[in-house]
Amino acid sequence: MAHDPYAPCMCGSGKKLKFCCQDILADLVKVEKLIDSQPDAAEKLLRSLMAQHTDKEILVTQLVSVLTRKGQFDDARHQLVDFLRRHPDEPRALLSLADVCLATEGFAASRRIIHRAFQLGARQFPAGVAMLASQIAQQMARAGCAMSVREHLALSVRMAPAERRNALLMQLANFESQRTVPYPFRGRFALLPVELDEELQKEEQRARKVSQIGCWEPAAILYSRLVEKQPQNGALWHNLGLFRAWDGRIPEAAEALHKAADLIDDFDTAVETEALAQLLDLEVGKDGYAVVQASVPVESVSQLLTSLDADSRLVRMPANPNDENAETARVAAEYELLADPLPDEVDPDNLPDVLADITVYDADESSEADPQVLIVALDDDIKEATALFHDVAGDLAQSDEESEPVPVSRMPQTCRLFDWKIHHAEHLGSSHFRKLDRQRLDAALQQWLELPSTSLGDESPQQAAKDANNLVKVGASVITLDVVCNRMGYDPDLAEIRSRLGVPVPSPLKSDEQQAITSLPLLQFARLAESELSDEQVVDFTNRVTLVRHLLLIERAVTELVKRPTALERFTPMRAHMLRATVAREKNDLKMASECFADARQSVTDDQDSFRTKLELDIRELSFRLDNPTDEELPALLASIRDRYFVKIPEIEEVIREELVNSGCTHLLDQLQPATTATDGGLWTPETEKKAATSEKLWVPGQD
Ligand SMILES: [Zn+2]
Repeated sequence: MAHDPYAPCMCGSGKKLKFCCQDILADLVKVEKLIDSQPDAAEKLLRSLMAQHTDKEILVTQLVSVLTRKGQFDDARHQLVDFLRRHPDEPRALLSLADVCLATEGFAASRRIIHRAFQLGARQFPAGVAMLASQIAQQMARAGCAMSVREHLALSVRMAPAERRNALLMQLANFESQRTVPYPFRGRFALLPVELDEELQKEEQRARKVSQIGCWEPAAILYSRLVEKQPQNGALWHNLGLFRAWDGRIPEAAEALHKAADLIDDFDTAVETEALAQLLDLEVGKDGYAVVQASVPVESVSQLLTSLDADSRLVRMPANPNDENAETARVAAEYELLADPLPDEVDPDNLPDVLADITVYDADESSEADPQVLIVALDDDIKEATALFHDVAGDLAQSDEESEPVPVSRMPQTCRLFDWKIHHAEHLGSSHFRKLDRQRLDAALQQWLELPSTSLGDESPQQAAKDANNLVKVGASVITLDVVCNRMGYDPDLAEIRSRLGVPVPSPLKSDEQQAITSLPLLQFARLAESELSDEQVVDFTNRVTLVRHLLLIERAVTELVKRPTALERFTPMRAHMLRATVAREKNDLKMASECFADARQSVTDDQDSFRTKLELDIRELSFRLDNPTDEELPALLASIRDRYFVKIPEIEEVIREELVNSGCTHLLDQLQPATTATDGGLWTPETEKKAATSEKLWVPGQD
């Protein structure tokens, strides 16, 4: 194609070629050709071009891309700074410099230049802003600033060109489903409306505008001036807190939000603001605990396993035959080290806790790795666990070469109350363990009421609640408790805790406040009045809480959903009933789960997929019922699965067999014997197992 002189210039300036780079066009084409294959030649050409054309942005940014690829960041930065001295507002040079600074010095040191690049580049070069924002999100994730991660990702989605948007949306959805991130941080937060007199309102609007394009430091600076003039305005402090949190300044954000909570009149808004401040405090709090890992060099692995197997405090975990990745290939065995010895007669209601997980690794000839044992435990327990292991292993473990345990993860101190692991005796079924966990949870909640907390001035929730002035703080600490429990895998109903503390029941959001469910802060979901929502809103509500995985909220959403035929159809009935069944299972309500399965069966339409759908349902129901190995419906269900599917799909038998063994229900294996003629799939061999495991189309239970 000949270059049309009136087409936009290839350098991306937006000017017509004739008035832009026409005189260096031939050289630019040459650079383009050389840049990948002969970077040194491209660099030489670019430098000589730059000597003649000092004002061409494309020459300097091309040179910078050659230099950064060679790792010459200092030179790259020097070139850009030099160019910007002559053209201080050139957006692409600014974006490029921001990129170099971010990569070499990190976000904190590069804030100024980044926000300047955002401000000058957002309109003309949104793709460049999107790219930078997604890189900042990655740095924020490593720094543990979740609110900043989400907001930078959302910014990059807003700014990205259409062809990049889907990939970024996936990244955002992936972040939003991360269970290790406290759930409110996985959703967006909204600025509060602020009322000011005309002149100040203009400044306020400016702050909102720069916030829209990710300039959270400039927004915070504008707001700091406003709060100086109106120090009693809670909404201002609230928004200032959000700007700071999005900018990755957590302690400063928490400070502003605490202040806002003191000043905001509306009780529920004040409580939610204080809860956010408390959650941010937890993120940066000094008091916490860690999961740590100790490694111990060992010898004669097979002899060691014999010793470990013989000890009543160590229980070997069943090996997973389908796990074939290289990482686990060296694993000789995995054990749970129990806090108390396991008696011969196990009392189902009094099972020992797991003190540590122990993994034994074989030697690996290819990497010349020696055999070793990894012990993973809470930092409080690691000493005891390591000592116990040495007791059992004796001379097979080398104690003198042992290194200091290394931290695997760190948790806020409040999580400790909800951090336990009960040894799982398989034949008792998952239902029994959910009951034990439930009891443990109730006891932990009781303890929580009595435990002094830094966010309540070192008083316990019970003590603090006696003073009515503390109600916002105490109400917020109940929300924080909900978030902490969710993070640890529990979603208890805290209504009783609230009423015992005299904290008012949160008032339902007014219908105008709940319009766009998808943009509602997650902390406000508990206040949605689901019966007043439109069908579309109920579907959005259900999708949103499913992504976040908050059991109580899912229950509320899906219970409303199934009452509404149109909404149910849009969500798909099967998905809704399965979601209800999952909730019922988690609540240990197997009767309710049965009803959900009956509803799900009714919703199966007679089409080409119906056989497969029914099969999935049957296997799923089986997996649920195996939670209680003495469930009376199990034999009949197994018999019907056998008669309906074993002949048509022989691999199914192996899936079922494995499921029975894994759930400690070997007493039910007899049910799989065909009533009449045997099929060739009836006999277990490792061969058939492989077949089942690799059969791609097969649905395997346990993944909701
Ligand atoms: Zn040009």
